Amino acid sequence: MNLIEQTFRQRTAASCAHADAASRVMPGGDTRAAGHHPPYQLTMVRGEGPWLTDLDGHRYLDLIGNFTSLVHGNAYPPIVEAARSAIEDGSNWPARNRHAVALAEEIVARVPSVEQLRFTNSGTEATMVAVELARVATGRRMVLMARYGYHGSAPHFEVGTFGHEGPETLLATHGDAASFEAVLSDRGHEIAAVILEPVMGSGGLVAASPEFLSRVQHATHAAGALVVLDEVITLRLAPGGAQALLGARPDLTAMGKIIGGGFPVGAVGGREDLLALCHPARPKLFHTGTFNGNPVTTAAGLVSLQHLTGEKIADMAARMTTFEARLAKSSADVGLPLSTRRAGSMLQVFLSPTPPDATPLRTDATEITAFHLAALNHGVFMAPRGLLVLSTVLDDDLADEAADRLSLALEDVAAELP
Ligand code: PLP
Repeated sequence: MNLIEQTFRQRTAASCAHADAASRVMPGGDTRAAGHHPPYQLTMVRGEGPWLTDLDGHRYLDLIGNFTSLVHGNAYPPIVEAARSAIEDGSNWPARNRHAVALAEEIVARVPSVEQLRFTNSGTEATMVAVELARVATGRRMVLMARYGYHGSAPHFEVGTFGHEGPETLLATHGDAASFEAVLSDRGHEIAAVILEPVMGSGGLVAASPEFLSRVQHATHAAGALVVLDEVITLRLAPGGAQALLGARPDLTAMGKIIGGGFPVGAVGGREDLLALCHPARPKLFHTGTFNGNPVTTAAGLVSLQHLTGEKIADMAARMTTFEARLAKSSADVGLPLSTRRAGSMLQVFLSPTPPDATPLRTDATEITAFHLAALNHGVFMAPRGLLVLSTVLDDDLADEAADRLSLALEDVAAELP
């Protein structure tokens, strides 16, 4: 066992024991794959602003914000207040609630392509409903997505995330418009929807250019298919989402994360004529769900969006630019290769001289695992795959402190590697 892992185990005995207990009742002791890492996950007991506290009492600067959803940090007081008040009014009922309508109005006002929307309980459901709407609208079954793109856990997307085509899934290369045009010209008559992330998140923060999106949109429409933009993580990049920055107007948009203020959420929005397909009085697509648009989530989500101004988004992006430069310097100081991709307040780190085309093609699996564990030892919580995300409550001083802590982690990694 290397020194980094030894230190981790020594610091976190209570989490270790809890991981054993968890493994008896949940495979791998866990119920979501993305946060899983060796030798065991920590058990967190409290989140407060930019800090998380684990079962052993250690504090961590939170640089993942529950995979981008906690854009205002943990237990943000205005969100806590909105959620508490909604709970006190009763948690949910099968009738309209005012918060859901207010949140829908806020999203429609912010994202011009979203004329109407329906809420779901996760981004996974949002992308699934978007594809079902496209299937009903076109009478076709196939989906075309980017190889290594991520659109949640539905089987017809997961195959593509792992780089394979499937019975209902075709693949092309993100950023390469010609590869999408080729598939659309070949199989366009079978394709209901082309679904794309404006920035491939789990794929390694690979950003689409306006030209790429516009060519794909043109070819998609020429083939009689629909464009679904998956903005589940990118809605934090501008008040109107990445589509506002890219000048894109998709037919449908999948949303999630920040629109729930930290609670389970998703939404599919877009053209009114497409959303009308799930009008409950004349449904072509039956869309329902016990918790869709529940008052607690939507009250919290409204505050989350209202407090996420263009100014705060720009501040976070500027802070991340400084942070990125500090990491580059720290790695150079200890002689470790480091490359990054940044999208606004999100940063993907690779411990290789250049970033791979997509995360599954990375060559630094050993190094990133060591870095992630070393970061935990120094009190920084990031995604095991090397994704770091800022929130509005992590100010310049704390970002500096996080960069200091990570430079110690990089030193540990450099000392450990042969
Ligand atoms: N789409 C994208 C781009 C995502 O990043 C995610 C989650 O990370 C999803 C869809 C799925 O969202 P959820 O985890 O809420 O199901």
